[in-house]
Amino acid sequence: MGRKKKKISLITLILFIIALIVFRFVEDIDNDIPLRDRFKVTKVIDGDTIELKGGDRVRLLSIDTPEKGELFYQEAKDLLKKYTLQKQVELSYAEKRRDRYGRLLAYVYVDSVFLNKIILENGLGYLYLFKDTESKRKKTQELLIAQQSAIDASIGIWSLPYSAEAYYINKTGSFRLHRPGCNSVKKLIPGKYRKFESRIDALKTGLSPCRNCKP
Ligand SMILES: [Zn+2]
Repeated sequence: MGRKKKKISLITLILFIIALIVFRFVEDIDNDIPLRDRFKVTKVIDGDTIELKGGDRVRLLSIDTPEKGELFYQEAKDLLKKYTLQKQVELSYAEKRRDRYGRLLAYVYVDSVFLNKIILENGLGYLYLFKDTESKRKKTQELLIAQQSAIDASIGIWSLPYSAEAYYINKTGSFRLHRPGCNSVKKLIPGKYRKFESRIDALKTGLSPCRNCKP
């Protein structure tokens, strides 16, 4: 082997090692870092769902906005529209990329504005978690703070008149908060639930209102 050839194979080897290191680094990057997936929004379905060019629907992670016919449905939808319609969005996924309806589940950004947070900050939706792991995410903490600021400012859904209960129930392992009369909490196992005197105190911990009894 000539001198030149030896030099070339040494360079090749070094490049190969660098490539390996870079590859490992990319692999190790946290899930929370937005993937560089940019898509154009062609339709806004409601306050927490958008449609992308090509037909893919995206459900904004960890939030729940009012349904059609409910107060602040339109405001939530309009706000999301204002930020996303005809814009390129950047999606950041958590553990699961799609739900059982085939919708993408994502934290949505437009020019680094975090839309899931904007909705909560304006009192136009609830923080809505499903699993224990979600409550430990950095983004969830950010969303929880955004919701709390809307509660403190009594804006949006937090400005609505409200009939308080003497207490509220949360079953262990669930992220839903119930009124004491809700069907979901008819049968309670001792030691497997928590009682909250204040709804706000319960929501502060990351719980969200049950869709049936709407506490
Ligand atoms: Zn309930």
